[in-house]
Amino acid sequence: MKNTSISCGQKQNDVRLMLSEKLFLTYGRKPLCYIHSYGCAQNVSDGEAIMGLLSDCGYGFTDSTDNADLVILNTCAVRENAEERVFGNIGELKRLKENNKNMVIAVCGCMTQQQHIADRIEESYKQVDIVFGTYGAENLPKMILDVLSERKRVFCLDRTGDTISENAYRLRTDNIKASVPIMYGCNNFCSYCIVPYVRGRERSRETEPVVQEVESLVKNGCKEVTLLGQNVNSYSYGFVKLLQRLNDIDGDFRIRFVSSHPKDAGHELIDAILSLPKVAKHLHLPVQSGCNEILSAMNRRYTKEQYLEIVDYAREKCPDFSFSSDIIVGFPGETYEQFCETKEFLKRVKFDNIFSYVYSKRQGTKAALLPDSISDKQKGLWLRELILEQREIATQWLSRFVGKTLVVLPDGKGRTDKGYLVGKSDENIIVEFEGDEKLIGQFVRVKIIKAMNWALLGEIDK
Ligand code: SF4
Repeated sequence: MKNTSISCGQKQNDVRLMLSEKLFLTYGRKPLCYIHSYGCAQNVSDGEAIMGLLSDCGYGFTDSTDNADLVILNTCAVRENAEERVFGNIGELKRLKENNKNMVIAVCGCMTQQQHIADRIEESYKQVDIVFGTYGAENLPKMILDVLSERKRVFCLDRTGDTISENAYRLRTDNIKASVPIMYGCNNFCSYCIVPYVRGRERSRETEPVVQEVESLVKNGCKEVTLLGQNVNSYSYGFVKLLQRLNDIDGDFRIRFVSSHPKDAGHELIDAILSLPKVAKHLHLPVQSGCNEILSAMNRRYTKEQYLEIVDYAREKCPDFSFSSDIIVGFPGETYEQFCETKEFLKRVKFDNIFSYVYSKRQGTKAALLPDSISDKQKGLWLRELILEQREIATQWLSRFVGKTLVVLPDGKGRTDKGYLVGKSDENIIVEFEGDEKLIGQFVRVKIIKAMNWALLGEIDK
C-alpha cells in the first residue's frame, strides 16, 4: 500500500484557499458534496465535522450522488454485513464516475482504518480516489487538491495526525437536536469489538470547549444535546462534573448521553441523573448478555449481579426509571441455555427498549478466534425469540406511564395518523400525540393514554 504523505508544514488555511481556487477552475460553480455517514452517532458527528471543513472550502451539499462532485462514504466497521453494503455502494459509484470525469470519490471512517479493507479498495475499486480512516480528516482539503491537480489516488491511514474532528466546527442540519462528542476512542477491548482498534485509545475533550459548544447550541435554539463517547463514564475531567456544568447553562434544553459502560456507571451517575433537572431521566446501559460466563468471555468486566445492583439502586429512588440496552445474540460458544439466561435477565430488569443483534465476527478481535458452532440461521431464530420476549415485556412495562404526564420534544409528524406529532419523552420513550406542527421543536406536556409495544400514545395535557 502506497501512502501519500501529507505536508504538515503547509498551513491548513492556505490549503483551503488553494482548494477553493482549484474548485472554481475545475467546476466553474459551487461544487456539491454528497456525504453518507453509516453507523453510530459518533460517526454521524464525524460526518458533520467533515461537512464543516468542506463548507469552509466552498462546497455546498446535496442529498443525491447524481449531481455530486464529491462523494464521501463515511463508513462503520461494527458489523460485517454493513461493510459488505458499503462495498456494494462503492461499486454503484463506478457508473457515475464514468459520466463525470471530475467527480472525486472518498471512503473514510472506521472500516477503512483497517488495512485489509484499504487494500481491497486499492486493488478492486479503482474509482475511489481518496481513502482515509478515523484520523487525518483535517487533511481532506489537501487530499482533494492532490486528486484534482494530479489525478493521483491518495491513501492516508496513519495515526499520527490530529484525530478526526476533535474540537472541529460541525455543520449540523438538525436545529432541534445536536450531538456533541466529549471523548474519542476506547480502552476496554471487549473481545468482540473492533472499535479500540480503529478509533484508538481514549481521549477526552477539555471541559471548557464542550461547555462553550453547548452554550452556543442552546443560544441558537437547540433543545436537546446528546453527549457522545464510547464510554462517557471514563471522561477524564469527571463526567458527573461535566453534567453539572452543562446543567448550569441557561436555557430550556435537555441533556442526554451515550454510551455508559456498566463497570463504570455507579450510584453517583444515577444520583446526578435524578438530581440535575436538565439531564434526561434515562440511562442507556449496554449489558450485551445476561449470562456471567458469556460476559466474562466478552471481557465486559462486570457480572449480571453488579448490573442489577445499579438497576435496583435507580428504581429504589425512582420506580419508573427508564433503562435501555444493547444485546448480542449468539456470541461464539454461547449455548441455548445461556441465551435463555439473557431472556430471563430482560424480564428481571424490564428495559423500555433494547437494540439486539446477532454476533458479527470482526477480524482482529479476540472473539474472532473462538470456536463458533451455532449457525447464523439458528442465531437468527434466537434473535427473533428475544425480540418477541422484549416486545411483551415493554408493552406491559410501558403501561406504568398511562395516566401520567410526560414532557415530550416532538421532532416530526407521527407515522400513522394525520395531525399527529412524534417525539421522545425525557425517559427516551417514543410518544405520539395529536398536535399542531408549530409545536415541533418545543417541549410539550403530554398525558399518556395508551401503551403500545414500542411507544406511547398521549394527548396534550392542558
Ligand atoms: S466499551 Fe467495549 S463495546 Fe464499547 S466501544 Fe469499547 S470495546 Fe467496543
